[in-house]
Amino acid sequence: MTSRSMLPRAVLCYYADDPARRPHCALTAEVAFGPVALCGPCARSRSTLGKGIAAAPLPPGPALDVLDWVAEAALAASQAGRRLAAAVTRARSRGCTWAQIAARLGVTRQAAQQRYRHRPARRNES
Ligand SMILES: [Zn+2]
Repeated sequence: MTSRSMLPRAVLCYYADDPARRPHCALTAEVAFGPVALCGPCARSRSTLGKGIAAAPLPPGPALDVLDWVAEAALAASQAGRRLAAAVTRARSRGCTWAQIAARLGVTRQAAQQRYRHRPARRNES
C-alpha cells in the first residue's frame, strides 16, 4: 500500500509553529543541535539555543508541504475537540459541576455549559 503518510516526513524546524517570532523560518530542518532541529535561517539566527552542542546535519529529505501541515493540524484540532468533549461529558456524568469544569477549562461556567451541554462526544463524528 502506498500512501502519502508512508513517505518520509520532513523534519519540522523548532520554530516552524512560531511565524510571529521567526517570519523567515524555512520550515524544513537542516541541522540538529541535540533534540532541537533547525532550518538554515533559524540556525543562522540562533543565539543560545543549542549552545555547547555540536551541530549535526540532517539528511536531505522532502520539503514540508504546508497544505499537508494545514490538513494534519486541522485533523489534530478536530480530534482534540472530540476528546475534550468526551472528557467534559465523563466529568459531568461523574458529578462534576459546570463551575469545576469551567475552572479547568479557563472559561466561565456559562461558557462551558453553552459549549458542551448538548454535545456528547461521538467517536465517529467528523
Ligand atoms: Zn526555522
